[in-house]
This record gives sequence, C-alpha cells and structure tokens, in this order.
Amino acid sequence: MKENNRLRIIRGVRQMQALADRLRTQGRIGFVPTMGALHEGHLELVRVARKNADFTVVSIFVNPIQFGPKEDYRQYPRDFTRDRRLLAGLGVDVIFYPDVKAMYPEGFATYVEVERLTRYLCGRSRPGHFRGVTTVVAKLFNIVKPHVAVFGQKDAQQALVIRRMVRDLNFDLKIIVVPTVREPDGLALSSRNAYLTPEQRRQATVLYQALRLGERLIKSGETDPVRVKQVLRRLIRTQPEARIDYVEIVDTAWLEPVPRIQGEVLIALAVYFGRARLIDNLIVRAPQSGGKNS
Ligand code: AMP
Repeated sequence: MKENNRLRIIRGVRQMQALADRLRTQGRIGFVPTMGALHEGHLELVRVARKNADFTVVSIFVNPIQFGPKEDYRQYPRDFTRDRRLLAGLGVDVIFYPDVKAMYPEGFATYVEVERLTRYLCGRSRPGHFRGVTTVVAKLFNIVKPHVAVFGQKDAQQALVIRRMVRDLNFDLKIIVVPTVREPDGLALSSRNAYLTPEQRRQATVLYQALRLGERLIKSGETDPVRVKQVLRRLIRTQPEARIDYVEIVDTAWLEPVPRIQGEVLIALAVYFGRARLIDNLIVRAPQSGGKNS
C-alpha cells in the first residue's frame, strides 16, 4: 500500500534519508531537484517524475556554492508558499527544503567535479559553477535516494554533466531529460525571467529567434560555425539591451566547439538582458553532406 499522499515538507537531512528508506520499501522514488521559484518548466519535470515513479520528491534549495561571488545568489527569487501550493496541486509526496547549514555544515570540505564536459559554455563563463552543481546533486542523490531523477534540456550542459557524474560515480539511478518548456513566443521559461523589465522581456525573444535562424542556416547546408555564429550575434545585437556572453556551436557528446558543422550539433547561447543572464540551446542535425561547403 502506498503511504497516504499528504504533501510532506522535510527540512532535515537525516529525516529525509529515513523517509526515503521507508518509501523505497513501498515503491520507486522519482526526484526533481530545483532552486524553487517554480514555473511551468519545473512542473513539467514533476509530471514526468510522477509518471515514472510511485513517489515524487522535489527539492527546493538555492545552492550557494554554484553561484559566483558577483552572481545573483542573494537576489535569486524565493517564494516557498507559492511553490508548495503548486507542488501540492500536482500530487507531489515530499518537498525536501533544507537550509544552507543542513547541506553545508561547519567543516564541509568535499566537492565533486566533472572534467572536460565543463570546459566550455557555462563552464567557461561561470568558473566553479558546475563543481557546485555536481556537488549538491551528488549530495541530494544520497539524501533522497531516488530511482529516477528528472532534469531539463534547458540546461543542456548541466544535464550532460549530471549524466556523466552518474555513470562515472556509479550512482544507481536513471536520469530523464525533458525538452525545454517555452512561452508562446519561444522564450524558454526560467526563474530568472522575473528579473526582466517588460521591454527586456520583449527583446529576449531574440534568443529563440537566433536559435531557429541557426537551425535554418545549418539545415540549408551552412557548415562553417564561424559564419553561423557571426549571423546569430548580429541578430542578437539588434536588441539594444542584449549583452552577449557566448554564442557557441559544439558537439553533443563533449560540448566542444566544432571546426565544421556535421552530424548533430548544439547551438548554445548565454545573453544578458540587464542583470538577467539567460541561456538557451537547440540541438540541430546537419543534412548529410552534399549541401553548401561540403
Ligand atoms: P532550476 O530551478 O533553475 O535549478 O531548475 C531546476 C530544473 O528545472 C533543472 O533540471 C532545469 O533544467 C529545469 N528547467 C528549468 N527551466 C526549464 C524549462 N524552461 N524547461 C524544462 N526544464 C527546465
């Protein structure tokens, strides 16, 4: 028999581990790690977790060690009351909601680092970011003890880094990656969209337009990544408030910049609008040679 489905809020690590042990005797645990300020993208991950498990655990933790010293850790949006209401509506069983001291007590000194996959894109722009992500996710896996964990393609590099960590460190669980959930105009949902002024919000649609333009160029036979990146940068710069962090075309295995576009590539963007740093990406399959420049 499944335990009663009242939503439980757990704040202690030991308490969560004990509950996870109990739940595992009764069924499979699906897990969605988040930093809260939930939106439809997160909720889609939760629905997928529910479909793939008997119990669903969502963690809400704004992880200080994945933010750089000049980043938005303090300003990051937090609204636990709203998050709890949304998750209750979806039939989530447990919210794991630790405070920073519970996760990083005095004397904490162990970090998990995935190499190679973290050299480019956000790994290059945000030194230490992925070390913070893999460390907290490894801890959360040991605390929540899931059979299945669900992540979003919106953070493509993060999803690959987590998959690599799970393989390399033999975590006994399955990773599911869910397609990016977008606004009707294409903007990827993000907790950081809350930072945008109405004008920046309008201009931010250029991110998805740039990805789709890149896709069209590649599909029509363009194989030179330098040229594609140049065209995308030019389009993004038509928006006066956009400040480009990176525009990259990388392979989908190791996320390394490609000298020539062939097979499957990832177009990845990071662009600031005011203080909001937005990222987005699209996987594109190049046509089988025979096109322009082949
Ligand atoms: P965050 O709370 O931003 O750390 O995100 C928690 C999880 O939600 C990560 O696995 C993200 O990739 C995922 N996520 C965030 N935004 C979206 C989106 N628009 N579509 C799908 N998944 C998302």
